[in-house]
Amino acid sequence: MKRVRFWGTRGSLPVALTAAGVRAKQLAALRAAAGRGFASDAEIGAYLDGLPFAARATYGGHTSCVEIETGGTEFLLCDLGSGARPFGLAALARHPRGTALTFHVFMSHLHWDHIMGLPFFVPGFIPGNRVVIYGSHAGLEAALLRQQEPPSFPVGFDTLFGGRVEFVHLEPGVAREVAGVRVTSMLQRHGGDSYGYRFESQGRTVIYSTDSEHPLAEAEHTERFVEFFRAADLVIFDAMYSLADSISVKADWGHSSNVVGVELCQLAQARHLCLFHHEPVFDDAAIDSVLAETRRLEEITRGGAAPLRVSAAYDGLEIEL
Ligand SMILES: [Zn+2]
Ligand SMILES: [Zn+2]
Repeated sequence: MKRVRFWGTRGSLPVALTAAGVRAKQLAALRAAAGRGFASDAEIGAYLDGLPFAARATYGGHTSCVEIETGGTEFLLCDLGSGARPFGLAALARHPRGTALTFHVFMSHLHWDHIMGLPFFVPGFIPGNRVVIYGSHAGLEAALLRQQEPPSFPVGFDTLFGGRVEFVHLEPGVAREVAGVRVTSMLQRHGGDSYGYRFESQGRTVIYSTDSEHPLAEAEHTERFVEFFRAADLVIFDAMYSLADSISVKADWGHSSNVVGVELCQLAQARHLCLFHHEPVFDDAAIDSVLAETRRLEEITRGGAAPLRVSAAYDGLEIEL
């Protein structure tokens, strides 16, 4: 495992930056630059790099799809949200045409936002490639086939993929070796169940844990997750709600918060918490402030422990392992 790349980071449904949103960013950037001169594109670039993320970029709007890069012709992917489409095109561009590629896809669960990218996953249309979809839901295969049944989609599953897609049932808690990586899954609390994944290879550990609610009053639940997250280099964590929402109005909605992410990662002595599955209602500035608040919380609660790095995932983010 060399690095993690985020292709879709939004929860529940895709969202797009609007014309008004772009204009607001331009206004803010130009206002802050008033009276300044720039001698070159490099100077403009340096100025833009100094702006807050929300003023110069966007977190993006594709739904869940995360790549764990191995560097070869075998790919590891978590979920098939709408981010699977740009991932598929980029994966093809990385190898000479005609190279046989294998895609190992680990499904957290079967809600629309995690499966909607599959019918647009171009590498699966190409003879010679393989797509292996792993999951623990009994209805895994049926849900993906149903997504492409009339009247919901114009091309049937078998017509589009021509037998290049295989399904593998994973037993939660039982480790499995895939493309040189040890993969273990665990049941999570979410409507219709979801599964988190622990990926381990060459002394590096990545956790993918989205669409998961954590009732912190239940000690046994907390212990199970602390053990699952133990000493991870990176924890990709469902931080869709604020803590206040997650324990009041949105309790039992099946998602977690940035605050719970910090607590679990600190208990597990993980090194890096990446906030993921952003609330679609949040604009870039709102996610920026969730990130700033999370970093402050981490500092205040750190005690004598090593710092926990905190970041917020965006479409296009790469994290080196
Ligand atoms: Zn989701
Ligand atoms: Zn879900």
